[in-house]
Amino acid sequence: MVDAKPRVLFNGDEIAARVREIAGEISAKYPDGGVLFIGILKGSFVFLADLVRAVGRPCHIDFVRISSYGSDTASSGKLDILMDVHIPVRDRHVILVDDIVDTGLTVSQYRERILQMGPRSVEIAALIDKTGRREKHVSLDYCGFRIEGGFVVGYGLDWDERYRYLNSVCLLEGE
Ligand code: 5GP
Repeated sequence: MVDAKPRVLFNGDEIAARVREIAGEISAKYPDGGVLFIGILKGSFVFLADLVRAVGRPCHIDFVRISSYGSDTASSGKLDILMDVHIPVRDRHVILVDDIVDTGLTVSQYRERILQMGPRSVEIAALIDKTGRREKHVSLDYCGFRIEGGFVVGYGLDWDERYRYLNSVCLLEGE
């Protein structure tokens, strides 16, 4: 993918409009705020930053670093937790914020872990729902954009730590 060229799929204006719409749904559901947003690093950092400011209500924010081993390994279904949530989850409304849901393994397994911590509720917000390789059903409560496949970068998402700074979500072509 070294010579891949990013092609804009969703530009900054389109993303900002979707983030405002999602924030409106969250504000309507939690008019007093108080939500604990948990961003799944690294890719969600831009989406989370824009989302909480668009919601514009008092909230708590934490981050986790996790990855799933994937179904093609002997340890299928195992989560690698590099950094776990620090803010107490018990009795809070939690929204897990992810950049992109692909197989669904990572966010669905982490949701199970959060559920064991006794939250009042757990919802999932993902900037992108990539549907073509889903292995684990994930019910997305808030979804920015839906794509079938391809590798996307920008607006927090990387390829080999590149492209995270882009305003747009771009498809890497020429793989
Ligand atoms: P899964 O849903 O397969 O467990 O994992 C989702 C994670 O895989 C995402 O958080 C992201 O780190 C990575 N990922 C999956 N598809 C893409 C993609 O198209 N672009 C980028 N940059 N990361 C992806």
